[in-house]
Amino acid sequence: MRLVRFGAPGHEKPGVVLSDQGHGDKGFGDKRRKDCSAHFKDWDHAFLQGGGLARLARLLADSANSLPDVPESERWGACVARPRKVICIGLNFSDHAAESGMPVPAEPIIFMKGSNTVIGPYDTVLIPRGSTKTDWEVELGVVIGRDTRYLASVADAAGAIAGYCVSNDVSERAFQLERGGQWTKGKSCDTFNPLGPWLSTSDEISDPQALGMRLDVNGARKQTGNTRTMVFGVHHIVHYLSQFMTLEAGDLISTGTPPGVGLGQKPPKFLGVGDVMELEIEGLGVQRQRCEAA
Ligand code: ZN
Repeated sequence: MRLVRFGAPGHEKPGVVLSDQGHGDKGFGDKRRKDCSAHFKDWDHAFLQGGGLARLARLLADSANSLPDVPESERWGACVARPRKVICIGLNFSDHAAESGMPVPAEPIIFMKGSNTVIGPYDTVLIPRGSTKTDWEVELGVVIGRDTRYLASVADAAGAIAGYCVSNDVSERAFQLERGGQWTKGKSCDTFNPLGPWLSTSDEISDPQALGMRLDVNGARKQTGNTRTMVFGVHHIVHYLSQFMTLEAGDLISTGTPPGVGLGQKPPKFLGVGDVMELEIEGLGVQRQRCEAA
């Protein structure tokens, strides 16, 4: 299933994209969005933790085509409700660690990002006041499917995952690296986490470690990668995190970015007002954001 949310910011309703055609290229096929709001309140913690995905599967099996269409003009919201937490994995592609001038980590590097950064996949990204180094990071987003603590094995992680989506871990490098302390200042600026267009449930993604990734700025390819070159795979990460904290249903984990970020260009190149990012992960759709001044 492909879960979407639509409507004005803060007032999104749950829907689905019928996934019988298309594979996440530019033909979004807005007409294929279906409104599930008569049956579900939102794609949130209560939905996932309460077994909502199984109920949604039954609804779609019985009556997918009789659900109302979502009007084409409706905004695409983030594909899940505001997560209780957003966890990011740093330097999880060896070639990105190299371009950042940092060693490949022996254990996953984790940091947190404010969950109020999450916006829709086509919303505007705001370049913060005083920023000179706003940067892009295409990442595979993992959404947790049930409250999870102390997973016994890496293999058990699969059962804790609701699905996958595209996540843009927008970053301000000067705030992140030149202003002292941890990375939070450069990671948690408003609008710094476009998410979606849809959440593909994990049954649709046969191998999360075999997904092509790309990001373009103003039509020029910047990042090309594949989830197979992650240092720590998705299941390893979920098992690892569960040893430190409860992962709650609906939490978002962004699993690291492949090479080609602005910081790694020679010379470095960052985003300015009017620039347009376009991101894609195989099977998970395309995002596009224009940058404006905060
Ligand atoms: Zn990142």
